[in-house]
Amino acid sequence: MPATTSASPLTVKQIRSTLEQVFDPEYPDISVVDLGLVQSVEVSPDGATIIGLIPTFSGCPALAMIAADVREAVESLDGANVVSVQWLSSPIWSTERITADAKQRLSTEYTVVLRRKDGTLLCPVCGSTTVQDQSMAGPTRCRSIAWCSSCRNPVEVMR
Ligand SMILES: [Zn+2]
Repeated sequence: MPATTSASPLTVKQIRSTLEQVFDPEYPDISVVDLGLVQSVEVSPDGATIIGLIPTFSGCPALAMIAADVREAVESLDGANVVSVQWLSSPIWSTERITADAKQRLSTEYTVVLRRKDGTLLCPVCGSTTVQDQSMAGPTRCRSIAWCSSCRNPVEVMR
């Protein structure tokens, strides 16, 4: 929908709340905001919008989908003008950027392991640190499958 004359320009707040409804293709209830991918939102007076995103794993094929979803969601807003999405090369994304709530859901709903600052992996099933970080083929290039030697469950490692 092209911008109409009656619509007021988008606000950063409005765009951010829209982005909270743009979900990761691989984790359907975890948004790009939850994952800490949204670094910047700029709106010029004519309504042109630039959204700066931080990639998780740069070879991840889901990134193109995420960028398209973000652009589409913002473009559909009343008052939207040209929307562009940029992948920023800094800062570097880390699991620290994921919200506490989303970390919890990744762990309980998707058995996703998040690498801690000291490099260890904490098993989302049993809580032990005996997860073996082996490079078995994961479901996608963005994730790998690891194995917990304590509870013997396979878990996913986010890259
Ligand atoms: Zn375990």
